Amino acid sequence: MEINVIILAAGMGNRMQHHQNKQFIHLAGYPILYHTLMVFQKMKAVDNIILVVREDEMSYVEKNIFPLNDFSKVVKMVEGGKERSDSVDNALKAIEGEGLVLIHDGARPFVKEVDILRLIQVALKSNAAVLGVPVKDTIKSVDAHQLVIKTPDRSLLWAVQTPQAFELNLIKQAYAKRYAYSKDFWDDAMLVEELMDHDVKMVEGSYDNIKITTPSDLAYGEWIAKQLTDD
Ligand code: C5P
Repeated sequence: MEINVIILAAGMGNRMQHHQNKQFIHLAGYPILYHTLMVFQKMKAVDNIILVVREDEMSYVEKNIFPLNDFSKVVKMVEGGKERSDSVDNALKAIEGEGLVLIHDGARPFVKEVDILRLIQVALKSNAAVLGVPVKDTIKSVDAHQLVIKTPDRSLLWAVQTPQAFELNLIKQAYAKRYAYSKDFWDDAMLVEELMDHDVKMVEGSYDNIKITTPSDLAYGEWIAKQLTDD
């Protein structure tokens, strides 16, 4: 069973307020995207990595990221799309055959191998599984006037992360169906839940698996990187 990993690095990262794609910013001495790629490059369980980048940043990646290590598992570089889901779709179309695909944000460099391995084990049985953590805050739903409508039972709420793992044909079919709907889909699993009516299993990950989004995440990221090296 082939295990493919899609790494998404084609976002604009506007919330970072930085002149450069946020995945190229250095953290603990190396670009964020380098750390993310290394996690999967080092894993025996992973066969192929498909890296999604903007067309105008492909040569930057070739010149500045690939020479930093052996990235032999990166079999393809695919052009990103307008939305994250378009980037995923482009990458899915570039994968042939059967197997499992893990879809991961390039901006999450601290995902741990042990968590990914647990995710893979669950996905091999269930065909669809995601990493997440129980929420720490109480969550409220509000209406358009910010009036609280509901306070869902916190013990049932999880914050979802990536990677999200799927049987390849299941996620390909889900993505093919999405064009018929005008609603927003917040993550890859939502397509499988709603358009394929397929169960998705939640696998407990780590709070460290943050998505680097705003400048304050960089300082927190440096701290996490230090903790992980000290471990
Ligand atoms: O924008 P956000 O941080 O939610 O994006 C999550 C991940 O998806 C990032 O790693 C980003 O580079 C990627 N992305 C992409 N193509 C897009 C938008 C986002 O690959 N069009």
